[in-house]
Amino acid sequence: MLIAGRPTAPKMSLRRLAARLVAVAATASGWSSITRRRRHRRGDYRLYILEYHDISDHEKEGPLAEGTFPEGTLPEGTVSAVRFRRHLKHLKQRLHFAPLTAAHQQLQTGNLDHDLAVVTFDDGYAGNYEAAWPVLRDAGIPATIFLTTGFLDGAELWFDVARRTLAALHQAAPTVDTNQQQVLRTALGAWPTTSSIDSLVRRLKYLPPGRRKDAMATLSQLDLELAEPARPLSWQQVNEMLAAGIEFGAHTVTHPILSTLEPAAQENEIAQSRQRIAETTGTLPTSFAFPNGSAQDYNHHTVEILERLGFAAACSTRRGSNAPGCQPLTLKRLGIGSDPLSLLDARLAGLFDQEIRARFQPGTK
Ligand SMILES: [Zn+2]
Repeated sequence: MLIAGRPTAPKMSLRRLAARLVAVAATASGWSSITRRRRHRRGDYRLYILEYHDISDHEKEGPLAEGTFPEGTLPEGTVSAVRFRRHLKHLKQRLHFAPLTAAHQQLQTGNLDHDLAVVTFDDGYAGNYEAAWPVLRDAGIPATIFLTTGFLDGAELWFDVARRTLAALHQAAPTVDTNQQQVLRTALGAWPTTSSIDSLVRRLKYLPPGRRKDAMATLSQLDLELAEPARPLSWQQVNEMLAAGIEFGAHTVTHPILSTLEPAAQENEIAQSRQRIAETTGTLPTSFAFPNGSAQDYNHHTVEILERLGFAAACSTRRGSNAPGCQPLTLKRLGIGSDPLSLLDARLAGLFDQEIRARFQPGTK
């Protein structure tokens, strides 16, 4: 059977468009800055942990440099260096930047007299060295990079393979036999070209490991030309940045959803990734980021393991800021992506925090 292809182009979901409109209204009305000033008058200062993934220096691509890259061509959440530089310049006027270890210690002592910000990157993409680090160095801003150690050791990130394969499937018209159709329909819950790549990858993430493997095997049998895979940092680049003050934390070996694993398997993923970083850099990481990171992606076993192994701080992707006295092993972050500055300000003001979203969307965690 031939699958009808369709062009893949940058596009914005209705939800994202609505968020941008709300953010512009919040900034234009002064709501974001009024909220911040009110909070400061109460002596309420917070730690904001910014979550990035890959940064690209494709600065010559015109409008792409401003924000979104075409679906499937670069790792999910890739931000241009131009946009990243603009974010940091904007935030530096409002926040004090600190490394994660220092910032969370200051948070625990409870004597904050200004808002703090920490820049983090998940997974360990080469763009963190090639495109992000020059920006950080110029701005004098520290950062913490959470490494998926198997990725640095040569394994592809399975969700990157899925993303590139599904993007190619959207564009091409491969021959798919009846068996393959059945496996893909069952695994993906939809025909691959009629759903967005994001929603299909999300569905694959939560499949039991065996079924995900079947679906990935079927996808790999299709005769598709894939975009270039995500490139990891080299250990040499890690050591160079470490020597210059960039911090590194663990992010597991293979990037599984930890809550889908038994406690022993979770511990292996966490301990082995930390060990690999320690033996390669000579520095034992004390911080961790949960793969995927929403409340359903880890459980109490995960937090107990981190505590027992002596981790001092762990970052989730639950949206929000961190107040003094909060639990250091389930810190909240702000997923920034290619946000325009108004959306960035609205996020800092708490407009999209987990608690606020839960009020309007029952079931949001
Ligand atoms: Zn990750």
